[in-house]
This record gives sequence, C-alpha cells and structure tokens, in this order.
Amino acid sequence: MAILEVKGISKTYGNEDTIFEALNDISFNVEKGEFLVILGNSGCGKSTLLSVLGGLDTVNDGEVIISGYNITTNFFNNITSFRRKNIGYIQQSFNLIDTLSVEKNIRLPIILDNKKVDESYFKKIIKFLDIENIIYRYPKDIKSGEKQRVCLARALIKKPLIIIADEPTGSLDKENSDNIMKLLRLANMLLGQTIILATHNEKIALVASRTIKMVDGKIESDIKKI
Ligand code: ADP
Repeated sequence: MAILEVKGISKTYGNEDTIFEALNDISFNVEKGEFLVILGNSGCGKSTLLSVLGGLDTVNDGEVIISGYNITTNFFNNITSFRRKNIGYIQQSFNLIDTLSVEKNIRLPIILDNKKVDESYFKKIIKFLDIENIIYRYPKDIKSGEKQRVCLARALIKKPLIIIADEPTGSLDKENSDNIMKLLRLANMLLGQTIILATHNEKIALVASRTIKMVDGKIESDIKKI
C-alpha cells in the first residue's frame, strides 16, 4: 500500500471575482522510503501542495490519504494530533520556539503527545546531526545551519510516516545547504525515512529518487530514477 495517496486534488484561493486555481487536479502516490522532490518555479503551487499533504490546509476537491487515513475527510476531526504524530514538517523559516532550548524544541512534539522520548534514539539523532554541543542553547544563539539541523532532529525524533520539507535550504548558504541535503539523503537511505521536499532549484532535485515537476498548479512530469 502506498504511504501517501493523492487523488485528484484541486485548491482555489480568493472568491468568485478573484478566483485563482493554485492546484489543478493533482494525483500521485508515494511509496514508503521514497525521496520525492516537487520541483517548480516560484508560484507554481509547491507550498500549497505541501501544506495540503501535511494536513495544514484542506482542498476544494479530491482527497489525501496517508497510510490509509483520509486526512481530507478527517480534516476537522483532530487533524492536529494526526499531524503531530505522523508528519515531520521542515520549513525555510525554521519555526523553532525561541523560549525553549534546542533540546526542548526537539522533544516538544513527543511531550505534547504524552509519549516518552526514546532516549537512545534521541542520542543517536543528535549525534547523527552533529548538534550534541548545542542542545542546551536557545534558537537565537545558534547559526542558521544549526537551526535547520535542529528542525530535522525535531522531525526525525518522532519517526514520522513522512517528512515534508518546504524549501529547507532557502535560508542557508551553499555549505549548509549541501550539508542539510546530505543529511536528508542519509535519513532516507539509512532510516528508510520517506521524504517529500519542495524546491525551485534543479540541482537540489538531483538527490531525489523521484522528481515531480509542477507548472501552474499542475503536474508536468513525474520521473523516477532507476
Ligand atoms: P510556490 O510554493 O510554488 O511558490 P505557492 O503554493 O506558495 O507556490 O503559491 C501558488 C500560488 O497561489 C501563487 O500564485 C500564490 O500567489 C497563490 N497563493 C498562495 N497562498 C495564497 C493565499 N493564502 N491567498 C491567495 N493566493 C495564494
């Protein structure tokens, strides 16, 4: 069974006078362990698509099913809890909580879920991401590259069904950008983590096992590497 089923989704913004079709009849499936890049120019609908796949927004038409759970029909039925448990979301702007230490930022999704953090996995993840030395600092005291590695740790710690990354290198210099892409690739290969990443950058798309190209809210091509 596919881990993600996207069935004919469409999404419009605005009202009757200013209607704008951001997603137009998009369908595809994602298998467990895939590293899918959604590639396309700014404004083609990548962020809209990811926010729908991640349960942050809903659609006008169609359905999104994650591991058998229909997040479209259940959108107003505890979607926050489903999202927190099952989706790791990484954004260009980091979205760390400034008043919490790095360590607490990473642990928060699990604590909110009334679960216990798997301590040996926590140690493994912070070592893998080379953030052991900064876990007691606060987000304002760490560099951008470190912030994005913390966001990746916060996503990985809950062993999510899918990591969704929206232009995760958008606020990073080349070195940190290459590093975060390498770490995402390793998380995909070593942990079998399913990843869906949006970017406008064709070079970044090269790490993916599959690339869906979007143009004006539609899928233009869907290519898997052999
Ligand atoms: P991308 O991530 O590829 O840059 P977006 O999904 O952010 O594309 O945006 C797709 C289109 O939808 C753009 O034309 C954008 O202006 C429009 N759009 C996005 N969010 C909104 C919104 N909340 N209200 C109205 N239009 C929006």
